Amino acid sequence: MKYTSCIHLEHGITFFLNSVQICCISSHPGGGNIVQIENYNGELIDWDTLFKNRNKMREDIKNGLIPEKCSGCYYLEERDWNCDNYIDEVLIGHFTHCNCNCIYCYTDKDKKYFNSVNPYNIYPVIKDMIEKGVLSKNATITFGGGEPTILKEFEDLVHLLLDYDVYNIRIHSDGIKYSPAIEKGLKLGKITLITSVDSSSRQIYEKVKHVNAFDKVWKNLENYAKTKNGLIRTKYVLIPGVNDSLHEVKNWMKKTYDAGIRNIAFDIEDNWFKTNRNNIPQYIYVIFDFVYKFYSQYKLESCELYERASNLKIDRENKQKSDTES
Ligand code: SF4
Ligand code: SF4
Repeated sequence: MKYTSCIHLEHGITFFLNSVQICCISSHPGGGNIVQIENYNGELIDWDTLFKNRNKMREDIKNGLIPEKCSGCYYLEERDWNCDNYIDEVLIGHFTHCNCNCIYCYTDKDKKYFNSVNPYNIYPVIKDMIEKGVLSKNATITFGGGEPTILKEFEDLVHLLLDYDVYNIRIHSDGIKYSPAIEKGLKLGKITLITSVDSSSRQIYEKVKHVNAFDKVWKNLENYAKTKNGLIRTKYVLIPGVNDSLHEVKNWMKKTYDAGIRNIAFDIEDNWFKTNRNNIPQYIYVIFDFVYKFYSQYKLESCELYERASNLKIDRENKQKSDTES
């Protein structure tokens, strides 16, 4: 049956520190963050109850009652949806500790606290999903926290997923700690590694990341790139006023290619975007256009736009359309 819904509403799950949610998308007008289980601490999930609740929500959605928190979200689309009970969009984001100090990170508010929080062990929960047939082999599993490579169960968890033959594992890592499990997954072509470098020079790197790891990260990226099979993206989160020079951005694309990497990702700092969404300065569009339209000039193969950058693109297209119509 054709109706308007989204991949997360249908088959998604997101593990956060104290809750299980449907997705982690939040910069649209509705604000996202639809909680499924509150006060969660890594307990095994009662899947019958979860799917019963999900099906109830699905009936409302079929009748056009989209959750208010989804209002304005670009993930919504009208199409035929598979209504079977399974999960194929997983975000593992229950950890907040990190060996980096990005100024745009939510953890920057209280680094000491976020680094001291002891996350629950998610390994048994994912193992249970596999054993109960809840997790589809076609699933996209995304790691994002926190820094996953310093999570106690990380290596075992990645091996569990690789052994189960999940072939689309997306790992957001700062690249400071080299992971043999990531290397293995890249060799098997089952992992996409995304590393935010947000710069091309040591000076800007340290300004954004507040850590002395510029050379180490690029060395690790070069070593990951030698695996050939998997997909690696360096990412640039544009922070107006901090790393917003076109020169820095151009060099980032060049440095990416020189490291043996052929793919990039681009985003804009969340708080700045939310504040300035209706009044984007022209020079931001110039940088955006350069990255999104001309990455192939640097012999790069693709540019993935993250949430804010996607919203910027859609807003601009909508504005151009309405200007043409009026
Ligand atoms: S529509 Fe957006 S906010 Fe709602 S579940 Fe989907 S991704 Fe999340
Ligand atoms: S690498 Fe990620 S988790 Fe760590 S400080 Fe930067 S944005 Fe936050």
